[in-house]
Amino acid sequence: MAPLDEYRRKRDPKRTSEPMPRRRSPRRKKGNSFVVQEHHASALHWDFRLERDGVLVSWAVPKGVPDDPKRNHLAVHVEDHPLEYGTFEGDIGHGEYGAGQVTIWDHGTYETEKWTDREVKVVLHGERTEGRFVLFQTGGKNWMIHRMDAPSREDWQPIPDDVRPMLATLGSLPNDDEHWAYEMKWDGVRALVRVEGGRITIKSRNDIDVTVSYPELRALGEQLGTTQVLLDGEIVSFDDEGRPSFRRLQQRMHVASAASARRLADSDPAVYLIFDLLHLDGRSLLGLPYTQRRELLDGLELAGASWQTPPVFEGNGTQAVRASQQQGLEGVVAKRLTSRYRPGRRSPDWVKVKNIRAQEVVVGGWSPGKGRREGTIGSLLLGLPGERGLDYVGQVGTGFTDDMLADLLTRLKRLARKTSPFDPDVPRADARDAQWVSPRLVGEVAFGEWTSDGRLRHPAWRGLRPDKSPSEVVRES
Ligand code: MN
Repeated sequence: MAPLDEYRRKRDPKRTSEPMPRRRSPRRKKGNSFVVQEHHASALHWDFRLERDGVLVSWAVPKGVPDDPKRNHLAVHVEDHPLEYGTFEGDIGHGEYGAGQVTIWDHGTYETEKWTDREVKVVLHGERTEGRFVLFQTGGKNWMIHRMDAPSREDWQPIPDDVRPMLATLGSLPNDDEHWAYEMKWDGVRALVRVEGGRITIKSRNDIDVTVSYPELRALGEQLGTTQVLLDGEIVSFDDEGRPSFRRLQQRMHVASAASARRLADSDPAVYLIFDLLHLDGRSLLGLPYTQRRELLDGLELAGASWQTPPVFEGNGTQAVRASQQQGLEGVVAKRLTSRYRPGRRSPDWVKVKNIRAQEVVVGGWSPGKGRREGTIGSLLLGLPGERGLDYVGQVGTGFTDDMLADLLTRLKRLARKTSPFDPDVPRADARDAQWVSPRLVGEVAFGEWTSDGRLRHPAWRGLRPDKSPSEVVRES
């Protein structure tokens, strides 16, 4: 078989826009060029090609050329390509092999240190890539590409695995506007999104991987390509009036199967609203002041159908709060301009100013419903973690949809137990037909105010918070 036979066999010269060399056998030239092409095919990948004996020996690398010697990337050996391919950029038409857009990501020359059927050691001299790499076969077409030198920059750092979101304290507007920026407070779920090699990972604030639940965010990885980032933001679902709807997001939060996640992404799409940048191309930004992190974030121009970078209001808190009220939003978050990002910390440098009062609660029991609610839940008995057990804060009987009631009932029956998790005891009138449960479900209620004896006045159910654990729940005052 001639070297380019397989290349020809996979393509129809009348239909593809890719180069089609006339000669059946290439001239065995002694060139030493290399090219890396970014290929937005059905799955984003980078094609790594080394010129050798008149052809481009090629691998498809799903995550691109690694920057970090500690992380090897898969490289799938593919058919040799003609030399003309080294300058090819363009669209491969729909329905053709490799359909999608091809651009040149890097090119240059290389030296060979070793070349066998199972191992290729080279030194690359490109515009973006410089250094020693080894490709080695692991089985069949599967190879790995490994960077042998130290990272391309001396201070190159991988994205840490253990970053938790920084949290805001509840408060009122600061009175020194000139030191603060104001962002809208979005009524959704917090999420840290990590992008490496065009692939995204989504972590909830309690460090659970929820990537599968939001397939519409995958394209954010493709937009970023090889730009490596760790983003902070809120996943939100908008209602028909364009307001964030925590209720609508509820069904998205519990999805664990890829198929139902895809279905829901169509019917109830979510949007990732990005407000912070914690890591960029091998560099941690945690120590930079808010203003600089924000500038770098804005520079990425992240905007798409399923992600946005909402604007910041600088210098006028009152105006920001008014805007949030007019748009029916939850409130604003004031951020001190000089503040560093403190992972996992509730910091006075971020202050949330809320238009509605909401409180996270732990469900410790429920009372059966009557009348129209016969056979389901009448009310939930709520508490906050206390020193001895759950500290009772009252019951909530409104704000539920029928779906929510059915879902809650299933969950609560699974958590049933004989004894009350509350300590001190729930007042006898409230405890009368109570069914006790293990205090594991966290939810959120809107309410009017705290009564003098520490109960919620007029609470209304807003939904479950699977992204929070009971031990994190605190009284917000
Ligand atoms: Mn390709």
